[in-house]
Amino acid sequence: MRVLVVEDEPDLLASVVNALREDGYAVDGAVDGEEGLYKAENYEYDAILLDIMLPKIDGWELLRRLRLRKKTPVLMLTARDAIRDRVRGLDSGADDYLVKPFDVDELLARVRALIRRSASEATSRIELGEVAIDTATRAVTRNGEPLMLTAREYSLVEYLALHRGKLVTRTTLYEHLFNEDDDTLSNLLDVHVSNIRKKLGHDFISTRRGHGYCVE
Ligand code: CA
Repeated sequence: MRVLVVEDEPDLLASVVNALREDGYAVDGAVDGEEGLYKAENYEYDAILLDIMLPKIDGWELLRRLRLRKKTPVLMLTARDAIRDRVRGLDSGADDYLVKPFDVDELLARVRALIRRSASEATSRIELGEVAIDTATRAVTRNGEPLMLTAREYSLVEYLALHRGKLVTRTTLYEHLFNEDDDTLSNLLDVHVSNIRKKLGHDFISTRRGHGYCVE
């Protein structure tokens, strides 16, 4: 899953980006509204964390312009517990909001819930044959046995599971699992797929030659 964080306070931006990366997300940051809008429009994100008070273009305007083109889930970061801001945020097409200062664990839980809702998942548990995935704890089991996946492998499994039954192209996977600074060596999808098959069973991911991957 790939997340964009638009926040002009450098320390807060760095801590949110680090927390998300530690949780296995591919994360891009933007320090003002102009950069944020550019990235939001031109890259494929699974969620956007959006501060309201931003240089160049504020969060409201960024959200308004983004909603003309895209439905990417947006979590607004509001500076104060003002009901007016929350109402305005939700009316403007934000999907959720969080009041600063926030607890990083709550932020991560909100992001997971946002991504789950946008994939129309009612609960955090997804069962696919003998494999079960818990998107809240990021735990994967096969026949009840816990499996150790790397952060990248987990992200790939989760993305395919949330889009199960659909063909997911390689381009889509590159867009959603890697951030703009990732080097090409870590991007070797085939290697990740091969490692996942060793752990979850060869049939867990089917390859559609020349098109992409699918889990049923
Ligand atoms: Ca700000």
